[in-house]
Amino acid sequence: MGSPWPKGILFVISGPSGVGKTSIIRAVLERVERVVFSVSCTTRPQRPGEVDGIDYFFISVEKFQQMISENAFLEWAIVHDNYYGTPAKFVFENLEKGFDVILDIDVQGALKVKSTYPAAKFVFIAPPSFETLRERLRRRGTESEERIARRLENAKRELRHIPEFEYLLINEDLETSISSLISIIQAERLKFERLKELELVRNLYGGVMDG
Ligand code: 5GP
Repeated sequence: MGSPWPKGILFVISGPSGVGKTSIIRAVLERVERVVFSVSCTTRPQRPGEVDGIDYFFISVEKFQQMISENAFLEWAIVHDNYYGTPAKFVFENLEKGFDVILDIDVQGALKVKSTYPAAKFVFIAPPSFETLRERLRRRGTESEERIARRLENAKRELRHIPEFEYLLINEDLETSISSLISIIQAERLKFERLKELELVRNLYGGVMDG
């Protein structure tokens, strides 16, 4: 017996680091049913307060490379000198069960998913201005000035890819952004193309759609 729900939807959330993706996604996970977060693997050092298995799976470069060779990643990329990757098994198992899955990944990773899994929905989260991004990275206080400068350079490159995404969310206000992402998820769930697979919807049409 399969799930009564159509397969889940994969939401790829991308945008420069420091833009507020993580805070938006965390709130959405608390407020929306049947959506799960894909925890990435990374080789970057754990930051204070981060929990292994919740924020990331913190693994060695050797282990990461082994996983690449085993094709264990849906996508992977080198971001600011460290490896980051999305374990494929978790994503596909959950989609199969009818859960929606959220990825928080960089733009290179998002573009790779677009070429291998175009059915995913792509959301770009942008800062209201470049200055805001610089301020946010400084306030976070986890990076040196040199690393902040590199993240900003990277952000400039990432912003050029906005047109390749379907949805653009400018994060001026956290609450508004959370509501916007929830709206995107709900609208995607209500698309007829998806719902027509449901027995309930087919019955509404008395089987006319089978013809
Ligand atoms: P941070 O080190 O600040 O947690 O993340 C740095 C960047 O890596 C963020 O833009 C984040 O979205 C991205 N990232 C996190 N996990 C993955 C992943 O699995 N794949 C890719 N491509 N990027 C990721």
